[in-house]
Amino acid sequence: MPESLLNRRLKLGRFLGISLYVHWSFALVIAYVAISSREGGSAVVAFSIAQLLGVFLCVTLHEYGHAMAARYFGIGTVDITLLPIGGVARLRRMPRIPWQELVVALAGPAVNVVIVGLIVAGLWAFTDQTVLYGLVGCVGEFMGYPMNEPLIESMIIILLTPSLLGFVTVMLIVNFFLVAFNLIPAFPMDGGRVFRSLLAMRLDYRKATMIASRVGLVCAFVMAFVALSSNPPNPIPVLIAFFIGYAGIAEARQVDITESVRGLTAGQVMIRTQASIPADWPLYDIRLCWQANSSPALPVIESSGRVIGMLRLSDVAKALAGGMNQSTTAKQLIATGSNIGTLREEEALEIALLRTGRQNRQIPVVDSIGCLIGIVDLDSMLARAEISRHAPMTLNEFS
Ligand SMILES: [Zn+2]
Repeated sequence: MPESLLNRRLKLGRFLGISLYVHWSFALVIAYVAISSREGGSAVVAFSIAQLLGVFLCVTLHEYGHAMAARYFGIGTVDITLLPIGGVARLRRMPRIPWQELVVALAGPAVNVVIVGLIVAGLWAFTDQTVLYGLVGCVGEFMGYPMNEPLIESMIIILLTPSLLGFVTVMLIVNFFLVAFNLIPAFPMDGGRVFRSLLAMRLDYRKATMIASRVGLVCAFVMAFVALSSNPPNPIPVLIAFFIGYAGIAEARQVDITESVRGLTAGQVMIRTQASIPADWPLYDIRLCWQANSSPALPVIESSGRVIGMLRLSDVAKALAGGMNQSTTAKQLIATGSNIGTLREEEALEIALLRTGRQNRQIPVVDSIGCLIGIVDLDSMLARAEISRHAPMTLNEFS
């Protein structure tokens, strides 16, 4: 599937200063719910869709809980996206101080706890409390107590009949599960972040992350196993487990990078170089130039000397394989590829790397007018950091 289709999303609006998006595949979920409930008639279809939207409203409020807690600590949120498997609030970074991460991680489920509390209070005050006794009865049955069959039956009728009471009851159950599910210690889910932050209060941050991500992987495996061995097998938890496992490993790697550069500036780890490609060079010349250069990416500079982007060898190979015109210039090539930020010599690397994103491995370092000074090559730098961990070097040798 092309990447643009995978990423396509609809903006729902901007609330509390944060843009809220919904992923296109959400339409499939609505269609699925509508089709699978169509036998009950239009009222049941409308009720099912209202429940689905209600669930995602609660998920959205959960994500805003994280975002608002992060804002309290001075950390912004890029955006919030609703996916069929849940919501994602993209914080600019996670707080590095463990107790702050603990607060940000708990703020999401705390919103659902508040919703549960409000619904329970409402049901207590405005209904005959059948639902509350029914839910307690269901929990009791789950724990092995003899069930009160008429009570359970009346619960099922309430849940399946389109009504405000049915809607509110479903929201109560959903929010209860949102709290329970998010607190599973599967890093980087909320419970995993709580676990990491508690570990990081005692251990080295990198070690805490490594342990949390491994425990997270085990949780993801168990989740996938349980989902696959249920009858019939349920694909959604498998998908979520896969997502958790992947995201956990990716974040642990990112922490490994940022921790290994903690306290260093771009200027201290860069390799001084003037190797670059003029912006007006055609593909033909670029190809020749790269035959004598081993770098996986080179900065592209204008005639003024200013760096305008980074050209990757893989982009050049793709352009050649795609039969692109030999007169295409370096400037045009980087315009089609992904562009990157630049670093300043005095910038703290751990902050700078968050800005440039983890997919950029070679980042140009520029002076105050944007001219090239050198390159920070993450791959070679990490290899050197790994060596220095086993045989400590002085900073001089490191840079
Ligand atoms: Zn959360």
